[in-house]
Amino acid sequence: MPYDTVHSLEEFMSGLKRRNPGEHEFHQAVYEVAQSILPFIKDKPQYRDNQILERLSEPDRIISFRVCWQDDEGQVRVNRGYRVQHCNAIGPYKGGIRFHHNVTQSILKFLAFEQTFKNSLTGLPMGGGKGGSDFNPKGKSDAEVMRFCQSFMTELRRHIGPYTDVPAGDIGVGAREISYMFGQYLRLQNEFTGVLTGKGLAFGGSLIRTEATGYGAVYFMEDMLAHQNDGFEGKTCLVSGSGNVAQFTVEKINHLGGKVVTLSDSGGFIHDPEGINEEKLEFIKDLKNNRRGRISEYTEKYGGTYHEGERPWAVPCDLAFPCATQNEIGADDAKVMISNGCKGVAEGANMPSDQAAIDQYLEAHLMYGPSKAANAGGVAVSGLEMTQNSMRLSWTRDELDTRLREIMLGIHGQCVEYGQKEGWVNYLEGANIAGFVKVADAMLAYGVV
Ligand code: NDP
Repeated sequence: MPYDTVHSLEEFMSGLKRRNPGEHEFHQAVYEVAQSILPFIKDKPQYRDNQILERLSEPDRIISFRVCWQDDEGQVRVNRGYRVQHCNAIGPYKGGIRFHHNVTQSILKFLAFEQTFKNSLTGLPMGGGKGGSDFNPKGKSDAEVMRFCQSFMTELRRHIGPYTDVPAGDIGVGAREISYMFGQYLRLQNEFTGVLTGKGLAFGGSLIRTEATGYGAVYFMEDMLAHQNDGFEGKTCLVSGSGNVAQFTVEKINHLGGKVVTLSDSGGFIHDPEGINEEKLEFIKDLKNNRRGRISEYTEKYGGTYHEGERPWAVPCDLAFPCATQNEIGADDAKVMISNGCKGVAEGANMPSDQAAIDQYLEAHLMYGPSKAANAGGVAVSGLEMTQNSMRLSWTRDELDTRLREIMLGIHGQCVEYGQKEGWVNYLEGANIAGFVKVADAMLAYGVV
C-alpha cells in the first residue's frame, strides 16, 4: 500500500486512539505534532520507514503507584502517583511533577510527549518525562503537604537519578514541595546529587530558575516581534494564571515597556486597565506564594473588575500570554482575540490553546509561539541547574540570564528555519519539526531499540 494511504493523518490518529482509549489530551498533543511531521517525513524514508513518529507516540514506560499519607486528623488518605518516562534518546528523562486534582495518565502522557520536543529545542541534552499525582494541595496544611511529598518520593526515588530521570516543579509543585521531596530523597538515598531541579539556592538550586519560564516566554515574544521589526513598548498584554509562570511573565513584560491588564486563577480573572505595575505584582506574589489566597482580593485593594468563572480573552489586547493550564483558549476565544486586534500569542502554559484555536491563529497568520517553544525557558534553566550541579559550581544571575536569552533566541531561529512561509512564520510547524529532527536522528543512530 502506498505510504500516503497507510499513514494519512486520520489513519495514524485512529491507530493512536485505538491504542490509547479515552486519553483525549494525549490524542490532542500527538495530533498537533503529527500534522507537521507526517508531511515533513513524506519524502524522508529514513524517518518514515523506521517508524520514528510511531515509536515517539509510545512512551518508553509509565510508572503508576499508590501514595498513602495521613492528614492532620490522623485519617489515612490514598492518592495515585505517576511518572511517565517518554523518551531518553538525547538525555536523561526531564520534566516536571504536577499535583492537581484533575491529574490523569492522559494529561501526564501529553505533557511528557510535549516535553521531549521542547527539551530537544533547547539544544541541551535532556529527554522528556512528566509525573505527578491527583493529590490536591489546596487547603492542605504544610505538614500534610510534607507528609504527602515524603510518601510520593519514597516510591519515586526508585525510578529517578541524575543520569536517569530528573524531575522538576509544575502546577502545584513549587519550592516548598521540591524541598520536601529532595529532603526525603537525601534521607533514603544518602546521596547529595542533582536529582531534582528547582531546588532552593542553599542546596544546589540555580538562580533565574524561578523566573525562567515566564521570562523565556516574554523573550520568545520579543524575538517574534523583532522578526517583524516591532517591540513591546506600549503594547497591551493579557496574561492568564497567577502562579509561577504568570508572575514572571508580568515582571518581564513590565521591564520591556508593555502593559499587563489581566491575571486569573481557577476562580476567575481580574481586569485592571491601569496596568499591573511592580507594586501590584508584589501583592500578587505575596497573595499566591505566601498567603495562597484568591485573585479576587486584587480588586478589593487596587480596583479594576473581577469576573468570576470567566477567562480574560475578550479583553482587547495586542498580545496574549496564556499561563494557567491546558485548553484555556477555544476557537471562540481565539476569534474574539483576533477580531479585537491581537497580533501575537506566546504560550507560557502547556497546550493552553485547543486545536480549533490554533487553527484560527494559523489562518490569521498570527505570531503564534506554541508552548514547546515559548515556555522552554524553564526547562532550559533546569538543564543549566543540572550542569551546575555536575560541575559543583554556581553561575551568576547575569550569566544565567544571558544563557537563557541565547537559548530562547536559538529556539526562535530554529522555528524560523523550519517554519518560514511566504510572508509569515508558522512557529508551530517550525517547533515541531526542529524538535523532532534531533530526537529522530539519535533514534536512527541507535537502531531498533
Ligand atoms: P502554578 O501552580 O504556580 O500556577 C498555576 C496557575 O494556573 C494558578 O494561578 C492556578 O489557579 C491556575 N490554574 C490551574 N488550573 C486551572 C484551571 N483548571 N483553570 C483556571 N486556572 C487554573 O503553576 P505554574 O505557573 O508553574 O504552571 C502554569 C502552566 O505553565 C502549566 O501549564 C505548566 O505545565 C506550565 N509550565 C510551567 C513551568 C514551570 O517552570 N513552572 C515550565 C513550563 C510550563 P489557582 O491559584 O486557583 O490554582
